[in-house]
Amino acid sequence: MAELLNDKPLDFVRQIVSDDVRNKTHEGVVVTRFPPEPNGYLHIGHAKSICLNFGIAQEFGGRCHLRFDDTNPTKEEQEYIDSIKTDVRWLGFDWGRHEYYASDYFDRLHAFAIQLIEKGKAYVDDLSMDQIREYRGTLTEPGKPSPFRDRSIQENLALFEGMRGGKFKEGEKVLRAKIDMASPNINMRDPVMYRILFAEHPRTGSKWCIYPMYDFAHGQSDSIEGITHSICTLEFENHKPLYDWFIQELGIFPSHQYEFARLNLTYTVLSKRKLLELVNTGAVDGWDDPRMPTLSGIRRRGYTPEAIREFCKRIGVARVDGVIDVSLLEYCLREDLNKRAQRVMVVLDPLKVVITNYPKDGTELLEAVNNPEDEAAGMRRVPFSRELYIERDDFMENPPKDFFRLAPGREVRLRYAYFIRCDEVIKDDNGNVIELRCSYDPQTKGGNAPDGRKVKGTIHWVSAAESIEAEVRLYDRLFNVEDPNAVAEGQDFKAHLNSQSMVILKGCRLEPFLKQAACGISYQFERKGYFCLDGKLSHGGTLVFNRTVSLKDTWAKIAQKNKS
Ligand code: ATP
Ligand code: MG
Repeated sequence: MAELLNDKPLDFVRQIVSDDVRNKTHEGVVVTRFPPEPNGYLHIGHAKSICLNFGIAQEFGGRCHLRFDDTNPTKEEQEYIDSIKTDVRWLGFDWGRHEYYASDYFDRLHAFAIQLIEKGKAYVDDLSMDQIREYRGTLTEPGKPSPFRDRSIQENLALFEGMRGGKFKEGEKVLRAKIDMASPNINMRDPVMYRILFAEHPRTGSKWCIYPMYDFAHGQSDSIEGITHSICTLEFENHKPLYDWFIQELGIFPSHQYEFARLNLTYTVLSKRKLLELVNTGAVDGWDDPRMPTLSGIRRRGYTPEAIREFCKRIGVARVDGVIDVSLLEYCLREDLNKRAQRVMVVLDPLKVVITNYPKDGTELLEAVNNPEDEAAGMRRVPFSRELYIERDDFMENPPKDFFRLAPGREVRLRYAYFIRCDEVIKDDNGNVIELRCSYDPQTKGGNAPDGRKVKGTIHWVSAAESIEAEVRLYDRLFNVEDPNAVAEGQDFKAHLNSQSMVILKGCRLEPFLKQAACGISYQFERKGYFCLDGKLSHGGTLVFNRTVSLKDTWAKIAQKNKS
């Protein structure tokens, strides 16, 4: 079995799996699962777990189940189930026929509960949830037993049947495991297994009015499915003894739990509860808002599954919590887009340029490189004519010394076209520059002067008549502090929202190639960044582009600094 993955030593989870395969534990079979609760959309943190679980199954010839952990009907919805399936597939993983729902096991979980009652290992308690908490004790004090702890097996069976039959109100009774009220691990102090909830379940309807708690449902679902490696995040470490206790008392398939550190990212919140709050308060425009760290959000923004998988590979898997710099994610994205993105010229803030010595009705097609990183991408032809648009900030009337673009009397290169010189600046009544009169040098076609003279700047442009119009949305970080979860008293994380996280530019001018722009394809707008068509907002003649990421690379700088 491989001890190396892509020339890197195995992480600790893969090392365990590798050892198990070698030792023929579970006959050498590897079965993992990704167990989302369908109470929100998946985010980039979930991607780490998906890549780990599905990745291990692939690498060790096993399988990975997609299991919906749908035990809390008050928060779960079909919309979330659908989105989760779309997102896992989009990331590039396939669960085949292994799509499961904890709710499919409700009958068996119920039977397991009865089995524990019959063993004297579970009892019905009349204490309220508040009282249970009170009786549970603290880290320094042992808990005290409930006065109902020693009910007879017969009585417990009858009461549990009553709970199931709807005889009691919500909160009136719960079923608890009978373990150890003095355990140093609070999770072992008679945890609740079942509670009464008169709620319609998206899948089981009104069949049940008792629902299993996470701890009772999760491990047993793993066991029912024959999961060999149940990989979860570190916050479940203290639940592991309980996970093992249930499996042992029930004598069922011995799944094992392994914990790894969850992903935390700077400038980002990765909590479904908080993301839902952003959606519900209108701070963002839905779960798939391109500023959201959800997979649907970053997909709409133009992230690629390849970039996300590469990111997950680079961050690795460890048992120590840490925070990853979001610029590493952006770095992986740029690396990927740089290889695949079609280059085009787009002017975001157009300033008109008239080439006075170019024929009035003249037009010509100039050759442009589609992708310098990929020869196979070939060339395209870009129309050039007498009237063009350039970027407003590529011109300055009174430029400082180190400004190498266009200015009165100065010459620049128009990318793939000619040298032009600015001869005259036209202004409106308020003194705003509205047009530049320039002349071109026909000898410089393609961007080089035969006399060897040099220009310092190269700028992009589009032909006025042939260009098409679009709206372009520029995004910045959704939060303006590194740790949005750290807040002053009386504030919440929304206090750190960046009010400049979206800038909408209208009237941008695109080279005509982009008439054929399609969703899910990345374009590099030369000098401006990577962009993609917004599938939700673009329709008919209306084009809306999202900036996926800018070209400037803060991560490369950080990495460079760390090296030196
Ligand atoms: P959240 O904290 O965002 O509400 P969750 O853990 O409640 O997430 P689940 O639907 O239960 O959401 O998560 C499914 C799986 O994804 C779990 O195994 C969980 O451990 C894992 N997971 C969730 N968040 C992260 C994260 N930030 N990094 C890595 N794995 C994660
Ligand atoms: Mg969870």
